[in-house]
Amino acid sequence: METFKGSYTQQEPIPEEGIEAAIAVMRSGRLHRYNTAEGELAETVLLEQEFAAQVGAKYCLAVASGGYAMATALRAVGVKPGDRVLTNAFTLAPVPGAIAAVGAVPVFVGVTEQLVIDLDDLAAKADLADVLLLSHMRGHLADMEALMALCDQQNIIVIEDCAHTMGAAWKGVPSGTQGLVGCYSCQTYKHVNSGEGGLFVTNDAEVAARAVMLSGSYMMFGKHLAGPPQETFETIRYETPNISGRMDNLRAAILRPQLRKLDGQRDRWNARYNLIEDGLRDTPGLTVIDRPADETMVGSSIQFLLKGWDGTSVEEVLSRCLKRGVELKWFGASEPVGFTSRYDSWRYVDAPAMPESDEVLAGIIDMRVPLTFSLEDCALIARIIKSEVSAVYQSVKS
Ligand SMILES: *Cc1c(COP(=O)(O)O)cnc(C)c1O
Repeated sequence: METFKGSYTQQEPIPEEGIEAAIAVMRSGRLHRYNTAEGELAETVLLEQEFAAQVGAKYCLAVASGGYAMATALRAVGVKPGDRVLTNAFTLAPVPGAIAAVGAVPVFVGVTEQLVIDLDDLAAKADLADVLLLSHMRGHLADMEALMALCDQQNIIVIEDCAHTMGAAWKGVPSGTQGLVGCYSCQTYKHVNSGEGGLFVTNDAEVAARAVMLSGSYMMFGKHLAGPPQETFETIRYETPNISGRMDNLRAAILRPQLRKLDGQRDRWNARYNLIEDGLRDTPGLTVIDRPADETMVGSSIQFLLKGWDGTSVEEVLSRCLKRGVELKWFGASEPVGFTSRYDSWRYVDAPAMPESDEVLAGIIDMRVPLTFSLEDCALIARIIKSEVSAVYQSVKS
């Protein structure tokens, strides 16, 4: 019987170029983003300029984490304590956490079998809030044209959580540039790795100015070359609290070469994803998620559905795969384990039950696809999953 020996948590090393740039920053001693020598441009500033150009946004701000970027976005668009904010029922804990961080209240919107936000449920709940924190969970993009048309018509501000869609696009438009703000994570398990870190992009000068002030720029906002024009800060600089959450030059130095490689990394991820998906197709009892033609995805993780399966059989599949070295995660488990991803795990929110979403969530199986897996590894993993799902499915049916 074949087994897989690789590690699901092993990422690739930082590119040598990034290591050298990081060492140069450490040698300089100037790690703080506003600590620059005469005529020097901080790594953080260069990162912001480069990322803004890469996604085609006017302004970019580098911050301490993806979660910090989201909370900053909510503050910068004017969300106040007690306000309700729409968000996905299927997402990761830092998303409702960012809403809670500003004292606001998440209102969950359902998930479809394509694993994207349910636009009918969004339309039904549109009157409940002025802001949608839209999570492109596990890299699945909703029909962004339909979503933006609905939100524009309902005067809903859209903030995009692009933790899993850095490098992705809808009809060629980079993910994170359709909403008013795009938020990205540079945490180890995302598409670029500085341990922790986040990026914030917008085309709105006032939102950008508030975010710069919020992030802890003191009166050094003039050093933000990917920030809005100086006059935008005229009153904002007096009115905006400093809620410290800057990125430092060390992280920025590590990230810049990784961003230059992002398109190539996307192709490598998608080659792995497609191999696994092909290997899983036509497995009895298993449904692959067909990706829309308008989506440019980054296949850094893969999901499939075990629709209508009972919990015991799902757990049987997971334990049999694990014995063969394949680590699957079940989002439907009743007790949250590891990274929690469903609305009823967050009991600080008084969320009404969502039976249709519960049914989808109960069947979602997830697997990370680190780039340290070879193509042969991916083919092997698919064979293992296929054989174990088939075996359990057959035994349940007979
Ligand atoms: C990781 C993640 C975040 C938050 O990123 P951090 O940088 O860890 O704060 C937000 N949303 C999703 C879906 C994530 O997976």
